[in-house]
Amino acid sequence: MERFRTAVDATLSLRPDQPVYCFRPAVLREDAQAFKASFPGKTAYAVKTNGEPFVLQTLADAGIDCFDVASPAEFAAVRAVAPTAEMLYMHPVKAQSDIRLALETYRIRTLSLDHEDEVAKILRIVRALDIDPGEITLFVRLATKGHAAYELSKKFGAAPAHAVELLQRIDRIGFRCGLCFHVGSQIEDAQTYERALASADWVRARAGVPIRELDVGGGFPAVYGHDPRRKTPAMPDLADLMAELRKDIADWGFDTMPLVAEPGRVIVARSISLIVRVLLKKGRRLYINDGIWASLSDSWTGKITLPARFIPDPARRRRVGNAGEIVPFKVCGATCDSVDILSRPFWLPETVDTGDWIEIGHIGAYSLSLRTHFNGFYPDTVVEVDEPFHAGDAPQGFASIETMAD
Ligand SMILES: *Cc1c(COP(=O)(O)O)cnc(C)c1O
Repeated sequence: MERFRTAVDATLSLRPDQPVYCFRPAVLREDAQAFKASFPGKTAYAVKTNGEPFVLQTLADAGIDCFDVASPAEFAAVRAVAPTAEMLYMHPVKAQSDIRLALETYRIRTLSLDHEDEVAKILRIVRALDIDPGEITLFVRLATKGHAAYELSKKFGAAPAHAVELLQRIDRIGFRCGLCFHVGSQIEDAQTYERALASADWVRARAGVPIRELDVGGGFPAVYGHDPRRKTPAMPDLADLMAELRKDIADWGFDTMPLVAEPGRVIVARSISLIVRVLLKKGRRLYINDGIWASLSDSWTGKITLPARFIPDPARRRRVGNAGEIVPFKVCGATCDSVDILSRPFWLPETVDTGDWIEIGHIGAYSLSLRTHFNGFYPDTVVEVDEPFHAGDAPQGFASIETMAD
């Protein structure tokens, strides 16, 4: 991986026409270790957020020894960089053949589910492989309600009364019982975890079976930009959110059992930025060489305002407009698809023009992992950068500088 001190150095040296990911291993290590140090239980990195080998390797080297996985490709990606790491197979709906692979080849012993037919699938493989069910922990996934950029309870999770039945069934067979939830991604309301804990407590009280572990899932918010025209309530930073979560866990009496969290976004977002080039400026519209079918679908569907830094092309002699005027630009993606327009603008100096570059910050989560080959555009260049995104000239994209400063 080519290495540069800053993303601006990388841009001016490479003058890239294709998008370039700037990876900051030190930032990834710092954010992973900060999470691990502040969560009072096991930290299982959610591989789907960014499963690139260089990310998983850096996490393993930073001491992350547990991973939340959902598919054979993710089992293999983790095993390749961390042969002894624990894997939790927390996808509630699994193919029978994948369950077999997980139990037999990868020796995974923790799985989640939200339906009795999934218990039957798992039991079939456990019997076929002659495994003692007492070696296996099955987490019953609870449906939760709350505000997040992505809300997942419409898709997964058992209603509380159903979860009670599932726990009793699992316990009767002889499996170890766990309770889990995943409140969605990028939560927008700090009380979200508390509501889920209250529901978990209700289920635990009625199930009357020993609950061995509680998994609070992911959802911890990453720091993005903010749109000055919108009144979005500020989210507490990770330290405050974690203090609140610890208190809620204790208040609901879950501090007496082993805990698990499955953070994704909060660990990896800040470690990667993306350099894109302006292919054309048309009034207040910028056509760039990336888009929703490559690195930017998460910001599109999640309506996330991304922090952006203007990197002017020094070769351009003439500029129109006022460099001090920061204005919103509608951003059009690289493909010929008419929906490939970002749902939130980039805030940039009025003088930005064709041939300039933009560094998009905090794009490590759900970017590389969601790329497609649509229309033949597939960004795949990664360089290493030493300085964090927030260092140097302040980004113009209304990144929340206050909360980013350390
Ligand atoms: C996606 C996912 C995560 C990670 O979510 P983040 O919001 O990125 O922290 C954790 N657990 C499960 C079950 C998931 O599906």
